Amino acid sequence: ALSGFTVMAETYVVGTSAGFPPFEYIQDGEVVGFDIDLMRAIGESQGFDIEITDISFDSLIPGLQAGTIDIVAAGMTITEQRAQVVDFTDPYYSANQAVLVKEDSGHNVTVLFGDNRLAVQTGTTGDLWVEEHLQDTGILTGNVTHFDTFVLAVQDLINENVQAVVLDTPVAQRYAAENPVEMIAELVTGEEYGLAVARGNTELLDKLNAGLQDVIESGVMDELLAKHF
Ligand code: GLN
Repeated sequence: ALSGFTVMAETYVVGTSAGFPPFEYIQDGEVVGFDIDLMRAIGESQGFDIEITDISFDSLIPGLQAGTIDIVAAGMTITEQRAQVVDFTDPYYSANQAVLVKEDSGHNVTVLFGDNRLAVQTGTTGDLWVEEHLQDTGILTGNVTHFDTFVLAVQDLINENVQAVVLDTPVAQRYAAENPVEMIAELVTGEEYGLAVARGNTELLDKLNAGLQDVIESGVMDELLAKHF
């Protein structure tokens, strides 16, 4: 038998965008969160290591296509449009969109109308929702500021440069718990998050789906949900 050998586990580069608590965020200079723990658990189940790379949300799919990233784990909603250019795993989390305003601003849902100013994170489903439902319809005439990260969008809201931010509900709730902002409405979009790989990378996709199933069946998923939510 062979001795003195260690078979090195494969390392996959996981792309994320760490302004999306509790899924991925920066704590003490490190990228942490539910998606990161989930990827580690899937890696343990399937025998691979991960390396995290933190980039802007709208660079994630181009990164998969260019091969600089192997997996996207970023609370990414499975959409028809994205599924034409990347492959998604089975869904692992459900979410809607939410409207965040400054605490005690007195705003209600009409903050989405007229000449109010909004902020979104570029390339997100919230960004698209605002464009399709508010801008294209003429309901909103005010400016929409696009940020690379929700951290900056929420900061702009706190600074009163914009009146509202549209973002995923679980993340809106986390920002509201930790900042002087509040969630005033939920937009029922019925989104489901998936992990993504380059189109046609079925070998890796199969590993991720098998890992997800294992993580769910072993109870690790419930532990991670309890830890982060
Ligand atoms: N779920 C949203 C989307 O896929 C937002 C994800 C994010 O900002 N990380 O666009």
